[in-house]
Amino acid sequence: MAKWQRPTVDTKFHIDLDWWKKQNRDIRIFLRQSLCEECRQAYGDVEHLGEVDSVDPETAEVVREDALWSTLRSCCSTKPDYITPNTPIIDSIFLTFAANGNQPLSPQELYERLDRRPAATILRMLTGGQVYLGIRPV
Ligand SMILES: [Zn+2]
Repeated sequence: MAKWQRPTVDTKFHIDLDWWKKQNRDIRIFLRQSLCEECRQAYGDVEHLGEVDSVDPETAEVVREDALWSTLRSCCSTKPDYITPNTPIIDSIFLTFAANGNQPLSPQELYERLDRRPAATILRMLTGGQVYLGIRPV
């Protein structure tokens, strides 16, 4: 096992999908609640959406992607009410990962994107002992 190192504000975090599996929780149900109004109506049966072709913005490579993640990234996360000042901070962090395709981000980067709590506070929340929404160090 790798030596455990205390996370810092520069440690990268992401949504650990294995955590969701181990908890026996379906992340897609949670993600579905984050769809915008139009998408929620358009995709009544989101569990059966399957995968879509998606173009990686950096490599221009076509990859298969879960349609739910793809929709959140390309549509719903661009709406002004995707994350509001009333969204709990931990949900805001989760939604930030949902919007970027779960690309790892450090507390410092989350602070820069969300501008809600200092990076050190975000770090304390994410490493306080309890795992929230599967958000863990990479
Ligand atoms: Zn949408």
